[in-house]
Amino acid sequence: MTEESRHKLLKGNQFVDNQQEAEEEIVLNISLRPSKLSEFIGQKDVVENLKVCLTAAKQRKEPLEHILLSGPPGLGKTSLAHIIAHEMHTKITATSGPAIERAGDLIGILTNLQKGDILFIDEIHRLSKVVEEFLYPAMENFQIDFVIDKGPYAKTIKFNLKPLTLVGATTRTGLLSAPLRARFGIFYHLDFYSVEDLSQIIKHSAKTLGMDIDEEAAREIARRARGTPRVANRLLRRIRDYAQVLKINKINLEVAAKTLDELGIDKAGFDEIDRKVLKLMLESFNGGPVGIESLAASLNEEVDTIADTIEPYLLKAGYIKRTSRGRVATKLAFEHFGIKYEKQEELF
Ligand code: ADP
Repeated sequence: MTEESRHKLLKGNQFVDNQQEAEEEIVLNISLRPSKLSEFIGQKDVVENLKVCLTAAKQRKEPLEHILLSGPPGLGKTSLAHIIAHEMHTKITATSGPAIERAGDLIGILTNLQKGDILFIDEIHRLSKVVEEFLYPAMENFQIDFVIDKGPYAKTIKFNLKPLTLVGATTRTGLLSAPLRARFGIFYHLDFYSVEDLSQIIKHSAKTLGMDIDEEAAREIARRARGTPRVANRLLRRIRDYAQVLKINKINLEVAAKTLDELGIDKAGFDEIDRKVLKLMLESFNGGPVGIESLAASLNEEVDTIADTIEPYLLKAGYIKRTSRGRVATKLAFEHFGIKYEKQEELF
């Protein structure tokens, strides 16, 4: 294979058409998603606490309390919801905030749940006010109120549900209304994964995918995976394509690093969009402070995309800081791009 066609293959993979990417993700996630608590790597505090709650609920033969999972995308919230159902030996019905347009959409789902079943609502902060209020009595007393007829003939009928457990997931707890938040009994926040935990996940995924990968290569992918298992698995899949086409049987550090470089994933794990955000802050705003709206407008991106998927890791890894006057690039960010840092951080 020529250098040029290899390059095309790598670039092509990066921009595969969305449909194909989505289908690949589904297939990949089904096989790589941990299904038992014992297979869930990392997040030790959450796992330990969850174990106690699961055991206690099982001993009492009661459904679990409602659980709110928060944290950036790709850290395992959906996986945990499925694991909870598996460990409680119950069924799970999954939906998401934006998918439930009217309260009526929920009636069928709720009335079909059996005792102890899990209702998983992803992006729960995006539920409409009306749907949210419809959920309150379902969460509190396992009841829903139907309104039949209109105007002066309108009547409310109460309908009893089987005791259920609502598992909500959100990338931003701050956007959850106080009454909804108050109806959850258990809160878990998932944080970015350590390189050690990520390399364990990568080795496990590689085994599932039938790849031969050495320790150093796994660590290199882990270092560049933005602390996120979903990213780690995606990078691993790209490396698998590369190795397959080039007939490389064992993934070592050199193969992993070279593929990641060619994919545009730099040593800090940043991809093109991360670099665009940082460069914009450094070059156009002289390191900030700059508001997230200005960043989004300059990049032609949604504010939510920056706030949910880009900013959290940059903050966690110490490349930007949040101040009352906006986001500020840190010394680390300047150094990453080889730009001289002349500010005094204390000013912010
Ligand atoms: P979220 O719902 O937070 O966006 P997911 O649960 O969909 O994240 O996780 C994305 C993918 O990352 C999963 O399909 C799984 O392959 C992997 N993953 C997430 N957390 C873990 C973990 N703790 N151990 C192993 N794999 C994980």
